[in-house]
Amino acid sequence: MSFKNLNLINPIVRAVTEAGYSRPTEIQSTAIPHILAGRDIIACAQTGTGKTAAFAMPILQLLKRHNPEHQGIRTLILTPTRELAIQIEENFSIYSKYLPLSQLSVFGGVSIGGQLAALRKRVDILVATPGRLLDLVNQRHIDLSKLEILVLDEADRMLDMGFVNDVKKVLQLLPRKRQTLFFSATMPVSIKKFAETILNNPVEVTV
Ligand code: AMP
Repeated sequence: MSFKNLNLINPIVRAVTEAGYSRPTEIQSTAIPHILAGRDIIACAQTGTGKTAAFAMPILQLLKRHNPEHQGIRTLILTPTRELAIQIEENFSIYSKYLPLSQLSVFGGVSIGGQLAALRKRVDILVATPGRLLDLVNQRHIDLSKLEILVLDEADRMLDMGFVNDVKKVLQLLPRKRQTLFFSATMPVSIKKFAETILNNPVEVTV
């Protein structure tokens, strides 16, 4: 299996090849076709499996394919920690090197000023921790009403850290018609039940 066989477009294949990736990991070859087909997915995958690229590469391709007049936040990645938010943004910036799409991460524990300045520029993909995201939405610096794709990353950890109400509040701000990708390292019944309330006929992916 190669990145080309997965029907990924040249600008993405070139960027990941330059990053030193020679072939897709298992989660990538399993999840990417479903994501490109527009399906919701629920994926059980640990860190280290290549799960970030498994959602980032097809998301970039979907955003490139549908190029609306509207410029605003089109994809939101919710993740539990600042470290993960920064890592995910870095991954997106590697894979989007040859695409006209831009990404930004926002997270708590740092002053809001730099993030406000960055939000005034074009942001297609926003990576956020839930609390800071809600602060920015409440202060009207972020509009999620045109969102196309939502990713919940490390959902089990996000709920363990007590973000359940924040995540539910964020969900209420999003269009109902969207694609949702749900990633969790573990899949206890409570997480699965929560996933079922937000996913639409998802494909289950386990590696
Ligand atoms: P993740 O599971 O998303 O935390 O990714 C773990 C590490 O694997 C990251 O450092 C990625 O840059 C790297 N990686 C992701 N996909 C591939 C791939 N197809 N080939 C080689 N390395 C990869």
